[in-house]
Amino acid sequence: MDPSIDRLGRALSSLRISVTDRCNLRCAYCMPEEEYKWLPRDRLLRFDEIARLVDVFTSLGVHKVRLTGGEPLLRPELASLVRLLAAKPALRELALTTNGVLLAEQASALRDAGLGRVTVSLDTLREDVFQSLTRRPGLERVLHGIETATRLWPGAVKLDMVVMRDVNEREIPALFEFARAQGAELRFIEYMDVGGATRWNERTVVSRQEILERMQRAFGAIEAVVEDSTAPAERFRAADGTLFGIIASTTTPFCRRCDRARLTADGMWYMCLYARLGLDLRELARGSASDDEIARRIAASWSARQERGAELRLEELRRGPLVAVEDLRTDPHLEMHTRGG
Ligand code: SAM
Ligand code: SF4
Repeated sequence: MDPSIDRLGRALSSLRISVTDRCNLRCAYCMPEEEYKWLPRDRLLRFDEIARLVDVFTSLGVHKVRLTGGEPLLRPELASLVRLLAAKPALRELALTTNGVLLAEQASALRDAGLGRVTVSLDTLREDVFQSLTRRPGLERVLHGIETATRLWPGAVKLDMVVMRDVNEREIPALFEFARAQGAELRFIEYMDVGGATRWNERTVVSRQEILERMQRAFGAIEAVVEDSTAPAERFRAADGTLFGIIASTTTPFCRRCDRARLTADGMWYMCLYARLGLDLRELARGSASDDEIARRIAASWSARQERGAELRLEELRRGPLVAVEDLRTDPHLEMHTRGG
């Protein structure tokens, strides 16, 4: 039996690494609370420890790494980590997900260090909506970051928009036009009831179906793109040929093809965004465990993996937030901004 194939036939091929749990925004769908409990700084993995774990993961078949957070650009010297990882031949893809606020100033260093792809979260083009959604100013800086990124990584920039009712759903056409003008692929994301989303309710979710209807009303016929992919987004083509994606984890989960796992900034490894329990790789790596032993522990967990968190949530009749605020305070690893989205 291949240790990197789980019980549902899914290969371990993608790893999201959160490099910090801190953030310079407070998005309503991710960090709506006033107070947060942060991971102790001395517990964060050093870059050499991350690089070592990445070697272990690539030996098991991982070939894509995405750096995320919290806000990854808050991690000092991030370009040094990118340089370490970009030098690994087994990694076919090295990407970053950022809110874009600090992107313009760091983009050149990241590109020179070998970063291959960038996804920027962009939920609105209106400063007033940006400020009420994120509780911080900064839209101009995000837009500047996107322009810089599309210049430095032509054809390799994506924009992610979490669509929420009565917040930004009317901006669906405007965001599509903006992304098209920038040469970036837009992905609409359904509002998810994950840890951190303590204000989640079903009414605020704008479904895949409704997003498609709104796109059709604005731009005419939409065609589904047929592709065999493990990517979370389903892709569509607008009448003018422009591609866009929808990540419909709330109404149409992609668990059956999910090949990704997540590493928190302090080295907890989770096999599902919805999982309560993880494996403490920092403890193993800082203890006396050899690379082979760490690989064996990871493979044993993955080969027993049956997780399909989003699908199971779908089966629940009455849905509310996944995790209670008190539980998030007791274990910040349950937070989306700790787990890396
Ligand atoms: N700070 C970076 C950013 O915002 O791009 C990276 C980390 S963030 C946790 C990663 C992604 O998770 C973002 O695209 C964000 O929009 C998404 N996200 C966070 N909470 C979400 C929720 N409740 N539903 C859907 N997407 C969410
Ligand atoms: Fe927003 Fe990303 Fe920060 Fe969460 S981690 S509050 S999604 S910018």
